Amino acid sequence: MSARPNMQPSSAPRVGVLALQGGFEPHLRMLASLGVEAREVRRPAQLADLTHLVLPGGESTTLHHLLALFDMWDVLRARALAGELALFGTCAGAILLGKSDGTRPPRLALLDAVCVRNAYGTQLDSSRETLAVAGQPMDCTFIRAPKFTRLGPDVSVLARRGDDAVLVQAPGVLAATFHPELGDDPRVHRLFLEGCAPFARAAHERLGVV
Ligand code: GLN
Repeated sequence: MSARPNMQPSSAPRVGVLALQGGFEPHLRMLASLGVEAREVRRPAQLADLTHLVLPGGESTTLHHLLALFDMWDVLRARALAGELALFGTCAGAILLGKSDGTRPPRLALLDAVCVRNAYGTQLDSSRETLAVAGQPMDCTFIRAPKFTRLGPDVSVLARRGDDAVLVQAPGVLAATFHPELGDDPRVHRLFLEGCAPFARAAHERLGVV
């Protein structure tokens, strides 16, 4: 994000990146390129005054385990449902944000979607492709990517690979099955900061997310 001189400091997003495991550093770098000094989040207290949190790629079962171990799973979920925290999940982060498909790990169910792990094969089936993201070409890196198999009616698709949604947005939530933090195109992170605001629980309940 370029300097935003007409923004009041109080309305500036307070951004964190979950730094328990996985690829959190490229997210910090991408956010820094937008002029945002994001906080590395490893403990529940560090969630307290954030408005925006990135859940990075990594290993979703491990991420779930560490979030539970450090008492962050319930806090994170409660703050998001209270409309205090907007969330952006990439890859393993997107898996956790969706609803359960009956497999491990448990999901946060903050996005009305099902995101199935390792849906395109092994690490060797990882790829980099140019896709239209919100109408503009973007180099998208897929690493042992998950797949959205069901999207609720209030989930918008911002990018597809073939028939498959790879970037989706719902109130308070942005999720990508690829890695927009790799490379040098900050558009998805900018969208998170500027176009994704915290969204309150009552509306989530109406959507049937919880
Ligand atoms: N395959 C990983 C999982 O299931 C996700 C891969 C990634 O985050 N790049 O958790």
